[in-house]
Formats: sequence, C-alpha cells, structure tokens
Amino acid sequence: KLSTRLTRIAEQIPAGSRLADIGSDHALLPVFAVRQGRVTQAVAGEVNQGPLDAAQRQVNEAGLSQVIEPRLGNGLAVLHPGEVDVITIAGMGGALIVTILSEGLDKLEGVSRLILQPNVGEEFVRRWLLEHGWFLSSEQILEEDGRTYEILTADRLADAAERNVQLYQERLLTGPEGLQVELHDFSLLQFGPYLLNEASTVFIDKWKQEIDKLEKVAASVGRSDTDEAKLKVAALQQQIKLVKEVLLCLQ
Ligand code: SAM
Repeated sequence: KLSTRLTRIAEQIPAGSRLADIGSDHALLPVFAVRQGRVTQAVAGEVNQGPLDAAQRQVNEAGLSQVIEPRLGNGLAVLHPGEVDVITIAGMGGALIVTILSEGLDKLEGVSRLILQPNVGEEFVRRWLLEHGWFLSSEQILEEDGRTYEILTADRLADAAERNVQLYQERLLTGPEGLQVELHDFSLLQFGPYLLNEASTVFIDKWKQEIDKLEKVAASVGRSDTDEAKLKVAALQQQIKLVKEVLLCLQ
C-alpha cells in the first residue's frame, strides 16, 4: 500500500497530466498516479543508477513501460522543454529542491504545476516559488510514522505576483493577555501561510517539537563561551520566543 504521504502528493496531480517525478527512487508515485488514471505519460528521473534500476523494475512489473520512462540524470536535465505539465519532487531537503528547480529553469516553461514535498527547509521552497512567479495554491501537512511532512503545490498563473502579495500579507496574531505577534516575510515563509491559518493539530505539534529541538541546540551551543556562540544562542532564543508566541496565539 502506498504511503499516505505519496498518496496525498498524487491527489494534487490534475487528471490527464503528463508528469515528471524527479528523484523518483522506486517510481512508486508515477506508477500509482498512472494506475489512478490521473497521468497519461510520465518520466521518472533519477540521478543514481541503483534507484533508477529499481524504478525500471517497478515499471516493468506494473506493465507500464509504454507510459512511464525512467531516465538517468541530474534534476530536470532528464526532460525536454514542453514535455510535461506537472513536476513532483518529493522526499528531499528544501535546499536541494530549490537547486534542482534553479538549474532547470528552461525546462519549467510549459509546466503548469509544481508539487513539492521538502523533508526540511520548507522556507527555501516557498521563497523560491515567490521569487520565480509561482502562486502557492495549497499547502498540506501530515504525520506518518512519527514524521511530519509538508506538501506545497504551486501553479503558474498570470496573476501569481498579485495573488502572492495577498497571500504573504503581514498578519497580526493576537493571543492571551494582550499578546500580539506580527508575522511577515521570513516568518510566513517558514510557517506557511495556509498552514498557519488552518493551525491543525499536526502543525501545532510540529512547531512544539521544533521548540524542543531549538532549545536543545541552544543549550548545546550555549556551553561554548565565544562571541559567535553567544550570537547564535541569541538568534535561537529569538526564534524560540517567536514560535512560542505564535503557538500561544493559535491555541
Ligand atoms: N521521491 C521519492 C519519495 O518521495 O518517496 C524518493 C525520495 S528519495 C529519499 C530521494 C531520491 O532522490 C533518491 O532516490 C536520490 O537518488 C534522488 N535524487 C537526489 N538528488 C537528485 C537529483 N539532483 N536529481 C534526481 N534525483 C535525485
């Protein structure tokens, strides 16, 4: 059975799409999406031979070698311009996803939707989308096997810039005892504008865990007495304060 994470990603693919799944590993996502009837043609891109072989086996076993083509190569280099409508990149860090997108800008012409699932560094992905004229059309958060995943869906729209301005408008959160938190720029990029509005239990839990992690890092860095360590601890404490205040406002 396909993981909830990959199932949710597949649900974001519009019916009738031509898909490229980059970093496809076992090609589970394209096989599922084709079987669901969402995808008519797919490329499964892989930079490593081992996972590419696994993708090829999976596609052959599914009897889908006419429809899904595993290709060896780095990021979007496996694609011809105009070949696909939708690109999925899942299960890697946000910084790597951004590198793949930036290095393949010419391959994005004609692509109408990006579905991105960074394991960490979601803020880099949101920033990239914002800076490259993609409208962040939805965000999802889910928990599976003790890990939290975010899925970011972005569309190429003529009025992406205007819509993004609205989406990332400053917000003032209000909490108990007159607490007010102003969120803009980096804060919205890290929390995610939709996820913040929704304030689901999974989202709140993710950020509670993040506070624990940050506190551990701050305690460990704080054992050093250098100026650099002091600056780092101050920055961490500021971030911890922000996240705590946001959670107070949301609960
Ligand atoms: N996308 C699948 C998923 O979400 O379950 C597999 C994720 S797996 C953790 C990441 C895969 O991305 C690996 O198979 C790795 O070889 C591949 N990968 C890493 N960097 C890549 C790149 N620059 N281009 C294509 N594939 C890459």
